[in-house]
Amino acid sequence: MPNIAKLKDILQQLDVKKVKLVAVSKTKPMSAIEAIYKTGHKIFGENKVQELVDKYEALPKDIEWHLIGHLQTNKVKYIAPFVHLIHAVDSLKLLKIINKEAKKHNRTIDCLLQLHIAQESSKFGLSEQELKQLLNHDAYSELQNVRIVGLMGMATFTNNTQQVRAEFQGLKRIFDETRITYFDNQAHFKEMSMGMSGDYEIAVEEGSTMVRVGSLIFGYR
Ligand SMILES: *Cc1c(COP(=O)(O)O)cnc(C)c1O
Repeated sequence: MPNIAKLKDILQQLDVKKVKLVAVSKTKPMSAIEAIYKTGHKIFGENKVQELVDKYEALPKDIEWHLIGHLQTNKVKYIAPFVHLIHAVDSLKLLKIINKEAKKHNRTIDCLLQLHIAQESSKFGLSEQELKQLLNHDAYSELQNVRIVGLMGMATFTNNTQQVRAEFQGLKRIFDETRITYFDNQAHFKEMSMGMSGDYEIAVEEGSTMVRVGSLIFGYR
């Protein structure tokens, strides 16, 4: 069973700074999500498409589902009818397919572009240069059914808090520059999805607007 006291504790901490909590329920049973839902929290994140779809179908329809993990182009169609926010978009190709599938459902799908900020090579994401190339591309400006609402990043998995902080600061700098240069300070470009169980407090200090916390709430996987 999830740790409701911890959930409330985190929510209270985040509330002060108006930061949103995505409760990461991956690998956890429906019953665990229902227990959290009953407390009034309705924002959940999953990292696998099939699991996200299964949970969407079985659980209350007012849950706001976020896909936080890497998304393959051939799976976009399964989540396009209902997904609230896709956190880890890292190519123009993927964005085009999300746009195409969103259009079929008469929707505009909100997305975050994932930046590679960690030192580990295993993590997905765009470099700063690739981000600029994407946003400068003619094909990007033609997409009518996707909306970029911010950036997402994952810090290196390390105990070195100084390094983690520096990586989050790097994402914040890119976010600020991108908002001014490419989004003309538009209000909808406002989200910075950064921070997980091990580093969300640092992330919030460095300007996160949305943290993705799993194991602290649901227990270790
Ligand atoms: C699993 C996952 C999280 C949550 O991780 P915890 O350490 O359990 O809080 C956050 N973001 C992404 C992309 C994940 O895959």
